[in-house]
Amino acid sequence: MNNRLADLTERVKARLNAIKDPISGKGLFTAGRVTGLDARADGKVSFTIEAPRDVADLYAPVRDRAEEAARGIDGVTAVIAVLTAETTAKAPAQNGGGVGRVKQIIAVASAKGGVGKSTVAVNLACAFASLGMKTGLLDLDVYGPSAPTLLGTGAKKPRMRDDKMLEPLAAHGLKTMSIGYLVDPGSPMIWRGAMATSAVRQMIDEVAWGDLDVLLLDLPPGTGDVQVSLVQRVPLAGALIVSTPQEMALADVRRGLAMFEKTRAPILGVIENMAYFETPDGKRTHIFGEGGARRVAAEAGAPFLGEIPIDIALRESCDAGAPLVATQPEHPVSKRFREIATTAQANVARMNKPAPTIRVK
Ligand code: ADP
Repeated sequence: MNNRLADLTERVKARLNAIKDPISGKGLFTAGRVTGLDARADGKVSFTIEAPRDVADLYAPVRDRAEEAARGIDGVTAVIAVLTAETTAKAPAQNGGGVGRVKQIIAVASAKGGVGKSTVAVNLACAFASLGMKTGLLDLDVYGPSAPTLLGTGAKKPRMRDDKMLEPLAAHGLKTMSIGYLVDPGSPMIWRGAMATSAVRQMIDEVAWGDLDVLLLDLPPGTGDVQVSLVQRVPLAGALIVSTPQEMALADVRRGLAMFEKTRAPILGVIENMAYFETPDGKRTHIFGEGGARRVAAEAGAPFLGEIPIDIALRESCDAGAPLVATQPEHPVSKRFREIATTAQANVARMNKPAPTIRVK
């Protein structure tokens, strides 16, 4: 089994190496143009072609040829070949590229998908903006980017500036970037971690974020290696964990805590989403159970930041690409988001205080 996989990988390598790198004339593999090669037992193969950024256009046909060559291999059932431009010059901080001028970076994470992590991230970002902070939102969910839908930016594409920096899209008072802006909606979203790495690097280093007070990172759901390597790329001021009461298990929070421990980022708090449903007469029903997140946060020693109810207006605003906090600031749920944002900021300040220095005379 393992032998067969190793054999398949070798055959893909050989095929790709038979294609010449247009710059060096060497085989693509030898020239170091292929990264993240992954071959699966079911015959799915994926890899990235890294083109020098100034001549990236030259490599579109190379990518096509590489994909075709891999597809022709016996035992290969599907091929995903992604083309990315490699960074030759480091993003110059003085022209606003990269995150050098971002005062604080906060990751928004969840142990599972579908708990409303992106909904919370977008509305919290709007809440930070409403507190007068210059705010950015970076949607790093490479498996299912949601910023284009939630912010109503849809199929808009970011502009490439003369200095090759991508201009983030402006929406609802936020600067935003998403993998969803960079790839066509029709192309497969089943990129594996390694494949997504260079796209992610581009979104961090080669975007003209400029001066920001806070940049929120909407991480892919889960607490695995992909997430860890993402959060290790940038200095975090802290992390927020989103969960529903039902899925809130101590083990989930522990996994979240362990993940951020590796990065030494403080946990700013746990947010319980879909906490309850309130009928117009004010009666609350705890559909997914009551108080789970609060209890577990306390047990795990993490601050509890608050509850967001199941709310029709919140759901509708997501579908309409018009974040509730930005478009209906007076709504009680918007108020809740602003309270959570305020507490999160207090925790950023408290948890990032420099350790007292001990002078020895
Ligand atoms: P995740 O990012 O965790 O996968 P999403 O933010 O995409 O989850 O939310 C999943 C779905 O649940 C979306 O359709 C969203 O509109 C809806 N949703 C999230 N939070 C709430 C809430 N508090 N009330 C009602 N609908 C919600």
